[in-house]
Amino acid sequence: MGLDLVLRGGMVVTGSDSFRADVGISGGKIAVLAERLDGAQVIDAGGLLVLPGGVDTHCHIEQPEPDDFVQEESFISASASCFAGGTTSVICFVPQFKGHAIADTLTDYRRRAEQSMMDYSFHQIITDPTDDVVEREIPELIASGIRSLKVFLTYDPLHLDDRQYLRVLAAARRNRALVTVHCENYEAIKWRAEALVQAGMTAPKYHAWSRPKVVEREATHRAIALAELVDQPIQIFHVSCSEVAEEIARAKARGLKVWGETCPQYFVLGAADMDRPGFEGAKFMCSPSPRDAESAAALWGDVRRGTLDVVSSDHCGFSYGGSLGKKVHGENAAFPLVPNGVPGLATRLAIVFSEGVSKGRIDVNHFVRLTATNPAKMFGLYPRKGTIAPGADADVVLWDPGKRVTTTNALLHHAIDYTPYEGLEVTGWPVATIAGGRVVMRDGKVQAQPGEGRFLARDPYPLIAPTGVLADGFDAAPPG
Ligand SMILES: [Zn+2]
Repeated sequence: MGLDLVLRGGMVVTGSDSFRADVGISGGKIAVLAERLDGAQVIDAGGLLVLPGGVDTHCHIEQPEPDDFVQEESFISASASCFAGGTTSVICFVPQFKGHAIADTLTDYRRRAEQSMMDYSFHQIITDPTDDVVEREIPELIASGIRSLKVFLTYDPLHLDDRQYLRVLAAARRNRALVTVHCENYEAIKWRAEALVQAGMTAPKYHAWSRPKVVEREATHRAIALAELVDQPIQIFHVSCSEVAEEIARAKARGLKVWGETCPQYFVLGAADMDRPGFEGAKFMCSPSPRDAESAAALWGDVRRGTLDVVSSDHCGFSYGGSLGKKVHGENAAFPLVPNGVPGLATRLAIVFSEGVSKGRIDVNHFVRLTATNPAKMFGLYPRKGTIAPGADADVVLWDPGKRVTTTNALLHHAIDYTPYEGLEVTGWPVATIAGGRVVMRDGKVQAQPGEGRFLARDPYPLIAPTGVLADGFDAAPPG
């Protein structure tokens, strides 16, 4: 068989196995795994791990905001950053604005995404579940392959009240989609933030004070309880601490379809980072807030026990300098006015590998499950993505497990002018990335063209089927 590309002599690592094999690629797909292969192009993978390309199922890319502003990270710069860090597919967010139809933003966003160099899919954010949205738009968009909805239980102007959240859960159940949830208590944070501002406590570090663990835990408990009522599978996004993960563990123990995601910022950043001099703390502001080293250590326990299934970046495109990013309301703006979120597309795999595998907390197969296999499975992309097997897309990372790198923004290829991980030492770094059979990164140099990425339409998959367990046996939202 004529192979386009052979990755020779590496250690192939999937979510379940590690074995020595050459990987033969043909027509953009993995064609064969065998002991000795030849092809038109051969890359020596001796001494390297051969991993499935990272799947980042939570990133904000070129996302429009209600005031006509668009987040700085474009599909092109985001693709470059992902390739630099070993990620080959993403799921990013299409917002719905309150008072508007979904179509008002979706049509334009689809056009923007056509520039992508990496494969991508969308989560649809629902902020206004009107009758027309629930009865007409949601069924249409799910049928078009956008098989996940995102809801916020906090943030102006995004948050849903309980009734609205129930309506979205029911719509997802009827049309077979996964619901993902940002869990923090809206009223509690608002009340506390107002009191802090009134007391003159406005610096970035008070962002953490405005939203302690308990507001995340309460919302997580409620999100799960209402999903249980509807019998709709959900994923809890960006779990910051063990107290929140405990709610997910209890749900799993009851047999509910509830999954948990966390992010690298909760392993290596802390609330203390927001207490840096001047306005610098704004660089570390994201929600839920990073906690502390003890919380991060406990969070690894939840990863090891399988309570947390996915590590994604929650990459957010806000620069520190300039007029659009963290300083959009001026330097020294009160913390509630500072845009939330940290960049992390290129650093996700390296941080999880370094903190997880290199430090002996998880094995390399678990690393692959967290960063590629599980996200692909949970969002209906598996086995096309998230594994190395004949028939899968040829998305592969050659990974040097011993390479020591000091993280600097210049390595990351994103549009954002800083990284919260500046100076962080990691062990383990990607040396080549292959996407759809194309070599798109080698030794830090990205080579790809706008438009080479494809939209990943997602069909129904078994994981999102309801459990069939309903209170009093009454189904308020029968699936179609
Ligand atoms: Zn997010």
